[in-house]
Amino acid sequence: MFDLTNEIYHDANKAREHLEAIHWPNGPICPHCGNCDTTRIVKLMGKSTRPGVYKCNECREPFTVTVGTVFERSKIGLHKWVLATHLMASSKKGISAHQLHRMLGITYKSAWFMAHRIREAMKEDNQSSGPLGGEGKIVEADETYFGKREDGYVSPARKGRPYKSKKAAIGKRAVVALVERGGKVRMFHVKHATKDAVRDILVCNVPRDTILYTDESRIYTATGKEYADHQTTKHSAGEYVRYDRGMVIHTNTVENVFSVFKRGMIGVYQHCGEAHLHRYLAEFGFRYNRRTALKVSDAERAEQLLAGARDKRLTYRRINEASYA
Ligand SMILES: [Zn+2]
Repeated sequence: MFDLTNEIYHDANKAREHLEAIHWPNGPICPHCGNCDTTRIVKLMGKSTRPGVYKCNECREPFTVTVGTVFERSKIGLHKWVLATHLMASSKKGISAHQLHRMLGITYKSAWFMAHRIREAMKEDNQSSGPLGGEGKIVEADETYFGKREDGYVSPARKGRPYKSKKAAIGKRAVVALVERGGKVRMFHVKHATKDAVRDILVCNVPRDTILYTDESRIYTATGKEYADHQTTKHSAGEYVRYDRGMVIHTNTVENVFSVFKRGMIGVYQHCGEAHLHRYLAEFGFRYNRRTALKVSDAERAEQLLAGARDKRLTYRRINEASYA
């Protein structure tokens, strides 16, 4: 249960202890040298020392729990970070920087950077989280088009577009998503959703013994042959679900993911620089992969987000390079 009166949202020290409990369940770990021998780490208690500072007796370096996390060197109180993290983890369609700015009493600009750092913590490590699908499992793949492209590219009008709705693709940003039925999603911003771009994403994320479901788009035809099975539904003919030898063939799962994403991007975020799109995709993916249907509570999702904050420092400089918009 979300309890706004919980001290971790109001007291920076309580917030720090909360973060320590998540990151260091067995006692502090030195982020500089990796020393986790708690007999070789001392907590600095001096009057002039700020709370939560430890010193490593191996490398002689001082540290706190935020070193090496997206919260490092922030002037915003850690309790505000913990609250913002909870709000972003539990709001299905996201929460705007304007809303955070008002709720946390920080400037809009601070809220904007804060939200982007939290999104950075939401990024999944696809390498360590393993492949999607596998033998006997189903992965739905689909692409969608959303928001105006910033490079001014307008795809040439071509005859014989597979079906009406994709006409919306002209001049828009392309996103490809893979969803394992009953499992996780991965979303990718691509320059162009071509056969080659989609193949690269599929073979890097989904093993060949997986069953692939897509719509009739020709970008999946050749790659589909590399998979254990490839079934399609013909949306142009009004076919959204097809029953075949006990299989329920559709791409509704991935389309629902796109639907939540678009509603959030239109209703909550409104403006999103193309350079930042990958972080918004990470945000919606993070929540979907820990959705209530998988029996993950809001509190657990928020804790996993705080845990993911390590080793993903996003400096102001790095975000600035990608423009503040
Ligand atoms: Zn050390």
